[in-house]
Amino acid sequence: MRQGAFDVANKLWGLEFEERTDIPLYHPDVDLFEVKEADGTHVGILMMDYYTRSSKGFGAWMSSFRRQSRRDGVMVTPIIYNVFNFPAPVGDQPSLISLDNVETLFHEFGHGLQGLLSNCTYNSLSGTSVARDYVELCSQIMENWATHPEVIKSYARHWETGEPIPDELVDRINQASLFNQGFKTVEYLAASYLDMDWHTLEDAELRDVNEFEDASLAKIELMPEIESRYRSTYFQHIFAGGYSSGYYSYIWAEVLDADAFEAFKETSLYDQATAAAFREHILSTGGTEDPMVLYKRFRGREPRIEPLLKNRGLD
Ligand SMILES: [Zn+2]
Repeated sequence: MRQGAFDVANKLWGLEFEERTDIPLYHPDVDLFEVKEADGTHVGILMMDYYTRSSKGFGAWMSSFRRQSRRDGVMVTPIIYNVFNFPAPVGDQPSLISLDNVETLFHEFGHGLQGLLSNCTYNSLSGTSVARDYVELCSQIMENWATHPEVIKSYARHWETGEPIPDELVDRINQASLFNQGFKTVEYLAASYLDMDWHTLEDAELRDVNEFEDASLAKIELMPEIESRYRSTYFQHIFAGGYSSGYYSYIWAEVLDADAFEAFKETSLYDQATAAAFREHILSTGGTEDPMVLYKRFRGREPRIEPLLKNRGLD
C-alpha cells in the first residue's frame, strides 16, 4: 500500500523514496525514507509509523520533527512523520489493512508531501501552516489516486496469490462510494449551518437551545426526515474542538480537492504540467499567501462545485 502511494508521488513529481536504516528511530516499528528529487537532490526525511501500540494515541496524523525553512539563504530541509493505527502483523501473517486505512495512508502521505515539498522562508508559514479550510486539500486530493482503478490495481494484491484486485471489486468499491451520499451531505451541511449560526451571534443573550436549533434548521428548510449530524448540546467540534464556525471546512476542502483532481481528469492521471503547477502553487507555498490566490494560480480560476457533486453522485 505504501509503495502504491510512493509510486503516485514518483509519477507526479519524480520523487524517489530510499529506505535508510542508518538513522536512529524512536521506535523499531518505524520505517525511515530519504526523499529525493529525480536528480538526486535531498528533499527531506519521511518516517512512517504504522501500527497501533499501547503508548500511541488514536487516529492518524502527520507532523514534523523539523519544518522546512530557509535561513540566510540556506535551505533547512524537513523531517516529517506520518503516524497510523493499522493492525500489526500477527504470527507469520502480514498486516492486512482495510480500504479505509488505505485512504488514510494516502491522506496522511498527502499532508506529508505538503511538509516535504514546502519551499518557504519562514518556519511559521511553511508546509501545512495554512488556513483550516484549505489544509485538507493536499491530503484529500491524494485519496483520489488511491481508489482510481488504474492505481488501486497496481498496489492492491491478494496477499497469498499476489493477484491484483479484480475489476469487479474495484467497480463495486467505486459504486459503494455513492451510497447514502444524499443523506450524509444534508445532515453534515445542516450541522455546518447550525455551527455558523451559533458563532455569528452578535449579542451575548441567553437563548433556548431547542428554539435556536429549530430556527436555524427551518431557515435552510431541512426536511424532517433528516436531522443535523450533531445537536448543539454535544457538538464538541464547535464548542470544544477548535472548529468554531469552521465545521464547513471538511466539505469546502472536498470542493477544492475534487476540483483540483478534475484538472488531472481533464488531462491525464499523471499529467506533468498539472502536477508541476500543483507543486509550484499549492504544495510548496505553505501559508505565504491567501489560499484563493494560490488556488487560482494553479487552476486559472476559482474552484467549482460540480466535481464534488459528481463524486458524491449528486449531479
Ligand atoms: Zn487530514
